[in-house]
Amino acid sequence: MHLNRRDALLGALGSMALPAARAAEEEAVWPRDLHVPGGVARLSLGPAARRPQARTVEDVPLLVVGDVIEWHALVGIPLGAPPGEARIRALREEGGTRELPYVVAPKRYREQQLKVAPGQVDLSAEDMARYERERAHLQGVMATFSEPPPEGDLRMQVPVPGRRSSSFGLRRVFNGEKRNPHSGMDIAAATGTPVKAPMAGRVIDTGDYFFNGGTVWLDHGGGLLTMYCHLSAMDVKAGEVVKAGERFCAVGATGRVTGPHLHWSVMLNRAMVDPGLFL
Ligand code: ZN
Repeated sequence: MHLNRRDALLGALGSMALPAARAAEEEAVWPRDLHVPGGVARLSLGPAARRPQARTVEDVPLLVVGDVIEWHALVGIPLGAPPGEARIRALREEGGTRELPYVVAPKRYREQQLKVAPGQVDLSAEDMARYERERAHLQGVMATFSEPPPEGDLRMQVPVPGRRSSSFGLRRVFNGEKRNPHSGMDIAAATGTPVKAPMAGRVIDTGDYFFNGGTVWLDHGGGLLTMYCHLSAMDVKAGEVVKAGERFCAVGATGRVTGPHLHWSVMLNRAMVDPGLFL
């Protein structure tokens, strides 16, 4: 199984596999180390008696995992990140900061050209106002950073069994106009199928949103958040804690969708990253 995983990883990455290949030679870790837009960079902060702190250059706190022998910052790389050198800031124990550079390799996600009737993509003034209100609310949800951070490796369980689309990062162009790329994983499942928590977490938001429909957000600590959309049922309220593998909502077709499925997003330091890296 170890070999298969590694072979699949190397095969999928082709010519720009250097950082991931290095990680694959070591023991398997979750999330996988993949320095591309929508990926996660695992950057060594070295040894320290206490968990060090690290931040993005935009000052967003980062998830730091490990132990006194070696700590790592797990950096969610935004889908819109330009390829090339990027950096984070690590706080020194003695005060001050040092910068840690890493390289973001280019990745071309697929593009999908769609032609639809104009009325279908342009929101009414009323819908637009609703969407703007929801967006402002969600900005606050997405800024959640709680202690303690999750422990151990961050391997997640698939929240719903079913066919998983590989559409993370897909760039959709409606009538020649670029839209935000698809920032999660879609899993095909019938309405009512139980959704189980991929790892333990605390519910930080539930609601019925214009695009996302019935939605639940889980906080796993340290800026690692997951979002579940288009739900037909939500069995939890904000503040409740769910265990790994516990049912907390059900698949549906609410919001702007054409059929029932689970949309699952994983967010690290406010960047949507590929959920597949955690499986
Ligand atoms: Zn989706």
